[in-house]
Amino acid sequence: MTTATPTVEATNPFEVAQQQLNRALQYLEVSPGIAEFLRRPKRELSVNFPVRMDNGDIRMFTGYRVQHSTVRGPAKGGIRYHPQVSMDEVRALAMWMTWKCSLMNLPYGGAKGGVIVDPRELSPTELERMTRRFAYELIPVIGPDGDIPAPDVNTNAQIMAWMMDTYTMTLGHNAPGIVTGKPVQVGGSLGRREATGRGVMYTTVRALKHLGIPVKGARVVVQGFGNVGSVAAQQLQQQGARVIAVSDVSGGIYNPNGLDIDDVLKYAGGHGRLVAGYPEADAITNEELLALECDVLVPAALENQITAANAADIKAKIVAEGANGPTTPEADDILHERGIMVIPDILCNAGGVTVSYLEWVQNRQSFFWTEEEVNTRLERMMDESFHAVLDTAENVGVDMRMAAYILAVKRVVDVLQLRGFYP
Ligand code: GLU
Repeated sequence: MTTATPTVEATNPFEVAQQQLNRALQYLEVSPGIAEFLRRPKRELSVNFPVRMDNGDIRMFTGYRVQHSTVRGPAKGGIRYHPQVSMDEVRALAMWMTWKCSLMNLPYGGAKGGVIVDPRELSPTELERMTRRFAYELIPVIGPDGDIPAPDVNTNAQIMAWMMDTYTMTLGHNAPGIVTGKPVQVGGSLGRREATGRGVMYTTVRALKHLGIPVKGARVVVQGFGNVGSVAAQQLQQQGARVIAVSDVSGGIYNPNGLDIDDVLKYAGGHGRLVAGYPEADAITNEELLALECDVLVPAALENQITAANAADIKAKIVAEGANGPTTPEADDILHERGIMVIPDILCNAGGVTVSYLEWVQNRQSFFWTEEEVNTRLERMMDESFHAVLDTAENVGVDMRMAAYILAVKRVVDVLQLRGFYP
């Protein structure tokens, strides 16, 4: 007697990324050798490095930088600080950056970095020393024309300023384009901080319009209240949507009449940046939040939030992926069958890297644009990509993620073929 082996859903992010790529390759004519080229990261750096803590002790940290591709230009992507960072997670995130930059027509490849750390355990001076030492360890592989880091989970403009300063001081010449997402005073771009959340808003508004759901009064649920989730919530509220629930690591808050996002941000500012305990709402768990009746669900936290285990419970009409990799391939299939539109991460959250590109261009020309100019360019670029993905989804008969992948992977393959292999 044979027993069927239960299929275990892959939640290793690199396995998920590979599965997504393999699915897309079925729609493209790509030789097995090129397919393997696309599956493998070009370069991987793993570093163990010491940092002096405030009490004088030395603590060792582990960090990674993976450059998945430099086919379309310098590698590009953020750096995250999180206890769950792993080489495979960074590999997946680097590959997703390649497709994201390609989909947005940015002249970049893809990269990602991370340090295994809970930054809340570090004092500000320890955080600075850790950042500077990690930046120093990255010098052999990064550069304004080679690989350009940016903020990601638990990193911000201040951390980018320290990275830029460490690189600049070590090399002895000014190099503002070494990182993006810098403070405006040190060469950052106006609008960069809000860009990812703003892009989530642009794509969500277009998806709502496509489905014939009025933006005004649309019920929005946001998982994650960091730089992406909080700004997306604010932006959607400004468009007239009703944000009925938000959550972070402390849990969720729910008010069916709508939350005042500016007020929630003010509350969180005084409570360790956490939303739990906000008085004008009921407490809910993150699981309950994902299953709320709503029009738009914005997963803006981490990977693997919507899986085969809970995809059937999702009641949103649109899933707008503010995070990278929040939905597994199995969950994608379930959502697609149920008629739920997923705006995939490589499109939905591409506003961040798009304004990173605009920042890098401004650094190269040493001439800076107004916030309005930046936002106008961002909106136009997001609009073009959104409609290209929607058209491809309709023409090929696939979901939005596959459509985005088909466009993005094809562009990389086309450039690869034009450039050829050397040496
Ligand atoms: N970390 C962001 C992302 O995942 C931004 C990357 C960048 O600006 O380079 O897209």
